[in-house]
Amino acid sequence: MRPDTRLAEIDPRGTPGLPGGKTVGKDPKRWSKTEVAAISQELAGYQERMFASAKEGATDKRVLLLLQAMDCGGKDGTVRNVTQGMSPAGMTAVSFGPPSEEERRHDFLWRVRRALPAPGYVGIFNRSQYEDVLIVRVHDLVGEDVWSQRYDAINEFEAEQAAGGLTMVKVMLHISKGEQKQRLLDRLDDPAKNWKYNPGDLTERARWDDYQQAYQDALTRCSTAAAPWHVVPADRKWYRNWAVATLLRETFADLDPRYPAPDFDVDAERAKLLAAG
Ligand code: AMP
Ligand code: MG
Repeated sequence: MRPDTRLAEIDPRGTPGLPGGKTVGKDPKRWSKTEVAAISQELAGYQERMFASAKEGATDKRVLLLLQAMDCGGKDGTVRNVTQGMSPAGMTAVSFGPPSEEERRHDFLWRVRRALPAPGYVGIFNRSQYEDVLIVRVHDLVGEDVWSQRYDAINEFEAEQAAGGLTMVKVMLHISKGEQKQRLLDRLDDPAKNWKYNPGDLTERARWDDYQQAYQDALTRCSTAAAPWHVVPADRKWYRNWAVATLLRETFADLDPRYPAPDFDVDAERAKLLAAG
């Protein structure tokens, strides 16, 4: 994200970077479904190569997809779609809710450090350290003197992690207030979705503008070279899935993980196996 990006100027229904009309065709939802499934297979290949190289201790590389959004922003759906081809055994997914009593006894980054993916793994953060400058700020859960220091603390933390082999893909799924209303209504109308509804969601919704301001500040102050933010328009689920999958593909292509060279003589092992019957 460029430092002068204004959240309010990004259209949540937009589809930036989408290939031309001919490629997408008349049914973008169908196109996206096929495309995202294909990209996810590619991601699985990258994931396996990164996992394999870490097993030999040859790399400390790891990738973290960090998702933030207003309620109903589509974090769970995004994870389900982009990771569909990947191996759960090479992945650690963590959701961050209100801190437990134990977590509250530590610095706000304590639980985040513990949840980071190990070398070779792909990590998923459903919410993150940013909640400590979002909900915490909007509801004055700590004083301004405390939360205002956290942007620098987060930048320092992320730079340190990046130097240690962590590649962060920080994504804000940007939905409109109207789309959130529709999705909240869906959660009330569909008994199978009632469980996703929380009466507290309306309290948060009432603070929409405060949240947008808090997001704007987090995006501006914590979009660094080591860990940039990406704002993905997310009113259209098919676009959102494609955009996040594509971001991950680009990230892995840059990382270019490779299978490690075997530390044994392959031909000699084959000969031994065959001779042993
Ligand atoms: P959900 O993602 O729907 O399960 O909701 C989790 C809730 O936990 C959201 O309302 C978050 O804003 C809230 N939450 C996450 N991290 C924190 C935090 N550090 N302090 C207070 N609330 C938090
Ligand atoms: Mg919720």
